[in-house]
Amino acid sequence: MSDCLFCNIVSGEVPSKSAGENELAFAFFDIAPVAPIHILIVPKKHIENINVFEIKEADSLSQMVKLSQELASEHNLTERGYRLVFNVGDDAGNTVSHLHMHLLGGRRLGWPPG
Ligand code: 5GP
Ligand code: ZN
Repeated sequence: MSDCLFCNIVSGEVPSKSAGENELAFAFFDIAPVAPIHILIVPKKHIENINVFEIKEADSLSQMVKLSQELASEHNLTERGYRLVFNVGDDAGNTVSHLHMHLLGGRRLGWPPG
């Protein structure tokens, strides 16, 4: 087992409620949702965060975005709207060091975020 929680979720060694996947990205429902739809979309490959993201990993990011587009449609969010979020570092409240994008929707989302 890896020492990375989200690598273990991708491999299935830590259980999660899957929301979908493609070749390079995996999506699962957040364990502590802050919106009616709260899905985490991660690269299957371990990338620590946006700060160390490299252009050669662009295919992973593209497939994460593609998967978010499909999930937004599947959960009827395309028309009403939703938010995609990367928390980076302490000030943003980032807690897991495996790149992840939050897909939030199903309620009116405040701006600016807290
Ligand atoms: P961050 O604050 O790092 O951007 O977001 C990490 C997210 O991972 C949080 O929203 C948190 O609820 C979620 N999370 C943490 N541990 C687990 C877990 O074991 N399973 C799932 N499904 N989500 C988790
Ligand atoms: Zn990882």
